[in-house]
Amino acid sequence: MNITWNTIAGFFAPWLITAGVLLLHIVLPARRVAGYVVDEKSGTRLTYRLNGMAVFLLSMAIFGGLGLGSIIPFNWLYTHRWEGLAGAVTLGMIGSLAVVLGKPKVKPGFIADFFLGRSKNPQYFNRRVDAKMFLYLVGATLLGLNILSFAAHHVMQHPGNASPSVILYTVLFFWFLLDYMTFERVHLYTYDLFAERVGFKLTFGCLTFYPYFYAVGLWTVAPLPSPNLSPVLLALYAAIFFLGWGFARGANMQKFYFKTQPDKSFMGVFKPAVVSDGTHSLLCSGFWGISRHVNYLGEVLMATGLTLSLGYPLVWWAWLYPLYYVLLLTTRERDDEKRCRAKYGALWEEYVQKVPKRIIPWVY
Ligand code: NDP
Repeated sequence: MNITWNTIAGFFAPWLITAGVLLLHIVLPARRVAGYVVDEKSGTRLTYRLNGMAVFLLSMAIFGGLGLGSIIPFNWLYTHRWEGLAGAVTLGMIGSLAVVLGKPKVKPGFIADFFLGRSKNPQYFNRRVDAKMFLYLVGATLLGLNILSFAAHHVMQHPGNASPSVILYTVLFFWFLLDYMTFERVHLYTYDLFAERVGFKLTFGCLTFYPYFYAVGLWTVAPLPSPNLSPVLLALYAAIFFLGWGFARGANMQKFYFKTQPDKSFMGVFKPAVVSDGTHSLLCSGFWGISRHVNYLGEVLMATGLTLSLGYPLVWWAWLYPLYYVLLLTTRERDDEKRCRAKYGALWEEYVQKVPKRIIPWVY
C-alpha cells in the first residue's frame, strides 16, 4: 500500500474529531442536571453537564465550513473511510484498555472485566465530563459527519442526478441523531446509564462501532446510481421509520415522566395506570400496556425504514443494520427481564400477566 499524508490523516481523523468533541464539550456552556443513577459515595443523584446539541451542531457547521472553503472536500471522510475505520478501531481498543486498566477488579480474570468494564460511572475533568454521556456524544457526532460525507460522495459522483433515496436516508438519520440530542436528558434514565459499567462494550461501541457500523447502508450504497424509487415508496419507507420513532420516543417519554412526575398525565391525556405493591409501581398503560418493550420494536422499525429508503433491498450489507438491532434488543430484553424480575419480584409477575407480550404487541 502506498502510504501518503492523506492515509495518515485518514487514520487519525477519528482521533482528531474525538479530541475536538471533547474540547467543545468542555468549553461550551452546558446545563447541569441530576440523573437517575445514585452516586454510591454521596448517596445523592449523580449530576451531568449536558450540551450535546450545541456540540453536535457546531461540529456539523465546522464540517460544512471546511467543505465550502475547499479546505477539506465534503467527501473526504468517505474517500478515507477505511483508514478512518482502522484509526477508530485502534482508538476504541486503546480507550477500552485505558478505562479498565488499574481499576479495582469486579470479576476474576481480565476478559469479562475488559469487555463489561470495571467503573460504573466515571467522571473526569472535575466532573465536567461523564464518560458514558461523552462517549455517546462522540459516537453520534462522528456518525453524523460520516453520514454527511458519504452522502456528499454520492452527490459528487452523480452531479445533477443525486438519488432522492440517499437524501431521504440522510434526513431520516439526522432526525434520529437530533432526536437523541434533543432528549439527551431522557437518556440518563436508560439501561446503559444505570445498569452497565464502562468497558470495551461501551467504549469500542461508541468510538468505533456506532460511527462506522451504523453507516453501513450508505457506506455500501453511496457510489451506486439512484434506484429511482417512486414517491409512494419513499413515503412508505419514511412512514415505517416514523412509526418506529413514535413507539421508541413515545415509550421513553412516557417512562421518563412517570419516573420524574409519577402522577402527571402523559401528553396531558394518558393518566398513568400502574400495578403497585405499595413500595414500587410499574406502568401498565399506554406504550407500556401494549408490550413490555415496544420501544425496542420502534428501534427495529426505524432501522428497517432507513435501510429500505436506500432503495437497494438486495444489497445484503445494508440489512446488517436492522439485523444488529434485532440481535441486540432481543438479548437486551431478556437481560432486562431478569433484572426486573429480581428487583420487582411478585410485582413483575403481575405486570407480565397484565402485559404478556415482550416486544411486538399481540405477537411476541
Ligand atoms: P427501557 O427504556 O425499556 O428501560 C428498561 C427499564 O425500565 C427497566 O430496567 C426498568 O428499570 C424500567 N421499566 C421496565 N418496565 C417498566 C414499566 N412498565 N414501568 C416503569 N418502568 C419500567 O430500555 P433501555 O434502557 O434498554 O432503552 C432505552 C431506549 O434506548 C429505548 O428506546 C431503546 O430502544 C434505546 N436504545 C437505542 C439503541 C441505539 O443504538 N439506538 C441501543 C439500545 C437502546 P427500573 O429499575 O428503573 O424500573
